[in-house]
Parts: sequence; C-alpha cells; structure tokens
Amino acid sequence: MRRRSVLKGMAALLAMNSGSFFGMPALQARARTMRRVRPGDAAWPSAGNWQKLKDAVEGNLVEVHPLFGTCGADPKGAACQSDQKNIRNPFYVGDQPAGTQVSGWLDAWMPAPSVYAVKARNASDVAAAVNFARENSLRLVVKGAGHSYQGTSNAPDSLLIWMRAMNQVTLHDRFFPQCNNAKFVPVSAVTAEAGAVWIDLYNAVTAEADRYVQGGGCTDVGVAGLVQSGGFGSLSKGFGTAASGLLEAEIVTADGVVRTINACSEPDLFWAIKGGGGGSWGVVTKLTLQTHELPAHFGSAWGTIKAVSDDAFRKLIARFIGFYAANLFNPNWGEQISVAPDNTLKLSMVCQGLDKQQAKRVWQPFYDWVKASPQEFSVADELGAGATDARHWWDIAGNDSMIPDPRAGAPKYHGWWQGDQGQVGAFLHGYDSLWLPASLLKPQQQQRLADALFAGSRHKKIGLHFNKGLAGAPAEALAAAKETATNPAVCDAFALAIIADGEGPVYPGLARRALDMDAARKDAHAIDLATTELRRIAPGAGSYVSESNYFNPSWQQAFWGTNYPKLRAIKAKYDPDGLFFVHHGVGSEEWSADGFTRRS
Ligand SMILES: Cc1cc2nc3c(=O)[nH]c(=O)nc-3n(C[C@H](O)[C@H](O)[C@H](O)COP(=O)(O)OP(=O)(O)OC[C@H]3O[C@@H](n4cnc5c(N)ncnc54)[C@H](O)[C@@H]3O)c2cc1C
Repeated sequence: MRRRSVLKGMAALLAMNSGSFFGMPALQARARTMRRVRPGDAAWPSAGNWQKLKDAVEGNLVEVHPLFGTCGADPKGAACQSDQKNIRNPFYVGDQPAGTQVSGWLDAWMPAPSVYAVKARNASDVAAAVNFARENSLRLVVKGAGHSYQGTSNAPDSLLIWMRAMNQVTLHDRFFPQCNNAKFVPVSAVTAEAGAVWIDLYNAVTAEADRYVQGGGCTDVGVAGLVQSGGFGSLSKGFGTAASGLLEAEIVTADGVVRTINACSEPDLFWAIKGGGGGSWGVVTKLTLQTHELPAHFGSAWGTIKAVSDDAFRKLIARFIGFYAANLFNPNWGEQISVAPDNTLKLSMVCQGLDKQQAKRVWQPFYDWVKASPQEFSVADELGAGATDARHWWDIAGNDSMIPDPRAGAPKYHGWWQGDQGQVGAFLHGYDSLWLPASLLKPQQQQRLADALFAGSRHKKIGLHFNKGLAGAPAEALAAAKETATNPAVCDAFALAIIADGEGPVYPGLARRALDMDAARKDAHAIDLATTELRRIAPGAGSYVSESNYFNPSWQQAFWGTNYPKLRAIKAKYDPDGLFFVHHGVGSEEWSADGFTRRS
C-alpha cells in the first residue's frame, strides 16, 4: 500500500511539471523510449503533427501501401496486371516505397509497409524525419534499394526514411576529406548520394571516366547499405571491400545533427559505418569512395561439370581445390563455384588484370584434366574462359549477360546480370554463410576441405564465393580492411561459403498457390545440415552480416568478432536511446524482436 501511494505521488508530480523540474527531461526521455508508439495508441502523432512534418519536408511525406497491394484488391484489374509485369525487375521494386527485393523469409519475416515515408531529397529532410521520429517515439526504418535479406529496411507501424530519390553521383580528380590532417594525400574519388545503386557508380566511374570503384556485384544494390555491410564485389580479391575505400560520409545521427565524418573527424563513427551494419548508426546521406586505376581487362571463366558417381565427384572437388590453391588464389580471381547434390561443379568466376589468352591459359590444365576422363566426368555446360575491355564490362547494349530495365524513361545504363535474376523477389527458406580460413588450402588440409564440401553437398548446393574472403588479396587491401568494422576473420578467409534456397516471389497480396510449409521447412533443415558439415572444419567461423542466417544465435560474434565491444560503445555514444534499431544490429539485444519495446 505504502509503495503504491509513493508511486501515485510521483506520477502526480510528473504530470504537473511538464518538464520544468530539473530532473524531468531525462526521466521523460527514458519513459518515452521504453516503448515506441503504434497507430491507435494515444501518443501516436495527430493528423496536425503529421502535417507539420509534411510541411517541413515540402510535401514529401507519403502514405505507404503494400507492394502489389493492387493485386489484393483486384487481382484481374489493370493496375495489378501492370504492377505484376515488373515483379522480376529489381529496379522497379527498388523504386517503390514498400519495395523489398526479397519477398520474405520462412518463419522469420514478411514484407510489411511503414505507415508513412519521407521521400528524402536532402540532409535536412532526413534531419526533420529523424527529429520527428525521436520526439514522437516512433519506430524508424531507413531504406535504400531494399536488398536486406534480413528484412531490416521495412517494419509495420513505422516511419520510413526512403533514400532512393537521392542518387546523384559526382567525380573528383583530387579529393580531400574535410580534415585538418596535412598528411592526407588527395586521391581520385567519387561521391554518391545514399540512394544511388552500384550501376550508377560503375557507369560514371568506369564507362564514362575509365576508373574503377570497388562496390557490389549486384548492380541494383544500394550504395549506403552495401558500404555499411562491408560490401564485396566480383573483384574484391583485388581491391578489398567497398567499406575499405570509404574516404568520407555525411550522416544524420539520432540527435538530428548532420555530420561530416572521416578518418579525422569523428573517426569512431566513421569506422563503425564501414561494416558495422546498415540502419544502426544514423541515416547516411552521402558517401565518398576512392577510385582506382582501371585494369585493362575484366574476364570470366564458366561451365558446369557433372561427375558420374559420388567417388568421381569427390575426386573432382579435390582436384578443383588443388587447382584453385595453386592457380586462382590471388588478387586476379573472384566470384564463385558451387557443388551440388546432383554431383555437379558449376564455375562462375570473374577476373581482372588478365587478357583473353592469359585467362584461357590459367584454366586450360584443369579443363584438359576433366576432358581426359569422359568415363568419370561430362561437360554439362561448355567450359570456357575469356576477357574483355574493362571499360565495357557494365555496358548494357549488346551484352547478353545483362538484362536492361525495360521501363520507359529508365536510365540506359540500368540493367542487372542474368545470373542475379533468380534472386529478384525470392522468398527464402533458409540462408547461411561462413568464412572458410585459408589454412584449409594448405596441401595437408585440402582433403579435409574436399570431404566437407562433398558431405555438405549431399544436403544442399554450397557456393564458395572467393571474392568475399580476402586472404590472397594485396597487402594494401588487407590493411585497409583491418581499418573497418567488418569481422577481422574476413582477412584470413579464402572464401565465404553460402548455402541458401527459396522459391519465387510470394509478396503478400499476390494471388498464388499456398506455400508448402512442410517442404519449405525440410529445405531449411537441409541448409542447416550442409552448414553443419562445413562448421566441422571451420569451428567458430564468422558470417557476413548481410548474407547470413536470420536465426544465428551468436550474431554479435559471427558478424563482427572482436570488433563487437567497440561497436557497442560507439552505438551507446551516438544513439543511446536506440532510435536506430534493426534485427541483429549493434545494440539490438536491448530491444524486443520487433524493435518496439526496450528490455528493462
Ligand atoms: C539480391 C541481392 C544481392 C546482393 N548482392 C550483394 C553483393 O554483390 N555484395 C555484397 O556485399 N552484398 C550483397 N547483398 C547484400 C547487400 O549488400 C546488403 O543487404 C545491403 O545492405 C543492401 O543495401 P540496400 O540499400 O540495397 O538495401 P536496404 O534493404 O535498403 O538496406 C539494407 C540495410 O541498410 C540500411 N540502410 C540503407 N540505406 C541506408 C542509409 N542511407 N543510411 C543508413 N542505413 C541505411 C537499411 O536500414 C537496412 O538495414 C545482396 C543482397 C541481395 C538481396
């Protein structure tokens, strides 16, 4: 009884004082951020308050409707038919406020639109939205191009800051960060607004200026999301991660302040956004990345080999590993191979710095070895290697490997790789990844690696993405990666193994057959079994934050390793009230799974 009357007295005091009592603002702030508000709650902003935000961003506040919502209302209607034409176009999906490039993840998340979105045009729009969200205890999400596998750029009952409209790209011959450090040597660079996608940079930097910038492999991935992931492209074995090339960024932090950050101005926050995960630090509005001399040639190697028996497949895997270790484990070669339950080895490799003849010469001994044993191996897809003028690598016209954005008015350089088509709108049954240490390539370890790949491939296709492990990269690329927040394990890994599967788009509202949940869960289990086989030879292996398992229970250690405590301290400094929350983001352990309730 006594305790209750004390509490009642305190509540009365709080109600009377409306913030003038000296301890009050802090108390109120704490109370506000324990629970975020949803539509229907008394504290949800009034229509008048929303109008104030709309005025502050000059009308660029929009209601968000579900992607393909037109189909829920009228599946046969013209609007639904027209929207559905674009269902496999990643640029269309990225251009919708509710667009998510993944249509969900079994038992993890399904797309759910925000209530409103601020379609940001500049840093002051972003600051207005951040301040509004903080002052009204709203759940805030930030979206670039929508490629989060983990669904971190969408949340129901939230306010979205949508960056897609900010996509200007500017080149610099000599860039100096805003920094008083006389030691800084100006370098050639490119500045991108945060809503740009990588093809915007490749067009400006390579096609138009004969330079190279290290970005992502998928042309339609967002620049800010990828850099904050760490970010790997086909040629990362030569040039390092995208985050390693970051020279400066502009970011709006939870206090609404627009900051220019670099190696000498707020270096801790600058370090954190280089791989510390998107959506946890603030809203990045601009990024400046170093550019490199463009190699004369980019090239590739391709083909599929099928083994006639399990024994032959074991032999093939072991032979390939030996061949990789001796000939491909260097800055020239990136991208991937896969080993699958049907005893196929698929090659989809990319190279830089080798001309056509050099690329062919590298692969000839392996191809000769395969073709010399037709009783054991057949060539399911023709084997080959080649190279082309690097300036035309991302050209759309006359390039069979690229699909152009067919929409009227789309930039002529917007297109995506044929090989990425299957991922557009995918609904994931499961996904996991782990960094495989380069020690497994030592001659005495190769058989263990081959055995584990064979065992894992009995359950599910395993991809080895050589460009997503930096062992074998030049010393300067490794040194730069060590100056980022990405798990240091990346520097000791020769590849990132990825095991994932799913099915075609199942966006909510689309008329389609019901999901076969049993089959999907069986598939997810197969992914776990394959991953387990690899974990046996790489215990405690890290995992790439943006291409990883939604359910990883040790995500802090897996994504950031020894960097996690430092990231946690930086989070506490710049966002003590956790305004920026994402699933398995730094500091998210303080919040409920939906990011609405702070754990006491
Ligand atoms: C089909 C596909 C292909 C991919 N290919 C590659 C690849 O080649 N290489 C690679 O390394 N990774 C790849 N990824 C992973 C990808 O890099 C990350 O998911 C990345 O974060 C996506 O950025 P986005 O802007 O496209 O996505 P979004 O979903 O918009 O954003 C991803 C995360 O970053 C945050 N974010 C986005 N913009 C900002 C901003 N301006 N300020 C603050 N936070 C922001 C979001 O809140 C979210 O948490 C791929 C993913 C998919 C689905």
